[in-house]
Amino acid sequence: MTKTVKDYIRTIVDFPHEGILFRDVTTLFADARGFRMAIDQLLHPYAGQRIDKVAGLEARGFILGGAVAHQMTTGFVPIRKKGKLPGATISQSYTLEYGEAVVEIHDDALQPGEKVLLVDDLLATGGTAEAGIRLIERLGAQVIGCAFVVDLPDLGGRKKLEAMGMEVHALCS
Ligand code: 5GP
Repeated sequence: MTKTVKDYIRTIVDFPHEGILFRDVTTLFADARGFRMAIDQLLHPYAGQRIDKVAGLEARGFILGGAVAHQMTTGFVPIRKKGKLPGATISQSYTLEYGEAVVEIHDDALQPGEKVLLVDDLLATGGTAEAGIRLIERLGAQVIGCAFVVDLPDLGGRKKLEAMGMEVHALCS
């Protein structure tokens, strides 16, 4: 039987904490066929649409977003954890299960009116993606879609992003 993207993803029990089932996409990235399938499927819905930049969320969103940007012949913009980007940045905080996290984007990474595709490996509560969307929008650019390899629907991320008016595309759940 032909393998699907989901077949290349493994589950690691109790990572990073006891009781967590971690969906590990490194096995997808490591397989030539699997990785190409994932990139082709991530960009498929956007064929023929204007996209100026792909933005990737640290860290696995860089691997996927870089390949998607190359295939679409667009630039790539990293959204990073606090303190990692060398130039002037804007920051956005978001809540985690315990505490807060902050992501940043270079303040000159996007121009007003640019159309951006946001890419990450996995959508859980949607907090990380929401913070990324806010950064992109604060620079005056427009998020035309949010593309993920995995959606964990029970955690509500898709609903949260759709309530913000976002189009969510996921390869498996
Ligand atoms: P959220 O902010 O939607 O709750 O969590 C999504 C973020 O956490 C993504 O950046 C994603 O990389 C990471 N993440 C959370 N759980 C998992 C998981 O089980 N597997 C992977 N690969 N990433 C996860």
